[in-house]
Amino acid sequence: MLDLLTNKEHDEARQGEAFAPFAHEVNSFKKHFYIESYGCAMNFADSEVVASVLIENGFGATTNCEEADLIFINTCSIREKAETTVRKRLTEFRKLKRTKPGMLVGVLGCMAERLKSKFLEEEKLVDIVVGPDAYRTLPNLIEEAETGQKAVNVLLSRDETYADIAPIRLNSNGVTAFVSIMRGCNNMCSFCVVPFTRGRERSRDAESIINECKTLFEDGYREVTLLGQNVDSYYNASPNPSDGGAFKHSANSKNTSDSQGVVIPPLGGRGAVTFALLLEKVAQISPLLRVRFSTSHPKDITDDVLHTIVKYENICNYIHLPVQSGSSRVLQMMNRTYSREWYIAKVNRIRELIPDCGLSTDMITGFCTETEEDHQQSLSLMEYCKYDLAYMYFYSERPGTLAERRFTDDVPEAVKKRRLQEMISLHRIHSLQSMQRDVGKTFKVLVEGVSKKNEEELFGRSDQNKVVVFPKGNVKKGDYVQIKVESCTAGTLLGKQII
Ligand code: SF4
Repeated sequence: MLDLLTNKEHDEARQGEAFAPFAHEVNSFKKHFYIESYGCAMNFADSEVVASVLIENGFGATTNCEEADLIFINTCSIREKAETTVRKRLTEFRKLKRTKPGMLVGVLGCMAERLKSKFLEEEKLVDIVVGPDAYRTLPNLIEEAETGQKAVNVLLSRDETYADIAPIRLNSNGVTAFVSIMRGCNNMCSFCVVPFTRGRERSRDAESIINECKTLFEDGYREVTLLGQNVDSYYNASPNPSDGGAFKHSANSKNTSDSQGVVIPPLGGRGAVTFALLLEKVAQISPLLRVRFSTSHPKDITDDVLHTIVKYENICNYIHLPVQSGSSRVLQMMNRTYSREWYIAKVNRIRELIPDCGLSTDMITGFCTETEEDHQQSLSLMEYCKYDLAYMYFYSERPGTLAERRFTDDVPEAVKKRRLQEMISLHRIHSLQSMQRDVGKTFKVLVEGVSKKNEEELFGRSDQNKVVVFPKGNVKKGDYVQIKVESCTAGTLLGKQII
């Protein structure tokens, strides 16, 4: 979802990151690939699948594009800016290709899906174009391209989940990892290009997810983030029948109601796995394995999920709940399928069940027809929810979306930007207040590494996903420590370890 693509996992610091898990083995392969990734966490996780497919087929990774035989850019279409950056990089690689005949350049991911003919035929920027559901065919496509043909596979699939491919962890800190649990999206938010570039929603086999998480834990990882465009609609109807009932929900086996009073019937099909159940099963791997998830669509997150979060200490009390607008009229045009009041009821329910839950959101200013009154409603909703974190953007129309076809992008850019600025200023107050409220409190922090600013300090995150920095002492990456917060900045809690 755009939600996902713009949320905490859309890490600006990682855009354009190049991967190479085995760079030191660079001489033991005949051909080397270089892969650069853009966009959301799903795209970065996909690059790990691509690396796995390539390494399995005898290619070696490198972080130096000049020594690569194959250069791939895993792309994002969600915003114009991301596309511009990718285009610029492709032009640079085309220059490099001139100095190294035989080098192949490929585009993967969402832009490949969207701009296949443009890249190949019109601009002649690349040799290989592969959509997000076709990574298994990469070795064949490479062979095809080596013969001088243009190799393309952008077919979207109804069932590809790469469940059996163990992703190669790239540039990992060895403590936290993303695990894809589903692909695609069936929602048709009118501003979003994802349903067209990543296809229909499909859930990965539950057992393969749990096995991947177990392996990560055994390899020393201490946090997994379950990833999907819309994780709460995860549904695996037919897990392995040999499981013998391992997927029985122990937290909430009866009918339950969501916050709107809607009765959720028991699941049909023996052993069907919902997101709540999957979450529970992953949490049960070990109390030392933290579990996060992203992204939740407000219409799909259920009481079952909330109860499961409450039940397991190692499921983090943090929910990314994109709202996009505070105006019911605009929400309807966005096709978000909930109203302002409905969203507020959901937030109230979260706070009722999980009082200390960290909450973040995505917001768009200047969507088609947005009036000053609509904008004020977005601000007042933010005032009500007081998000710990918010990702805010002004609307930019994406080709092929429902909004592009149905509505006029009629809010002047200056107005969109001014509204965005007002929103950012308001959110700054809320996020600082949120940090200040934590001063004096003690948090369990999972240590992720050495602080970028000071080698004598470590950093990690609290349950609520706030970055905490503290003096090194004798703890190390992957340890859990109790930190008493003594002060804060707008983005970081600073504290000392409690022994
Ligand atoms: Fe998210 Fe909506 Fe896009 Fe799906 S269509 S990815 S729910 S923004």
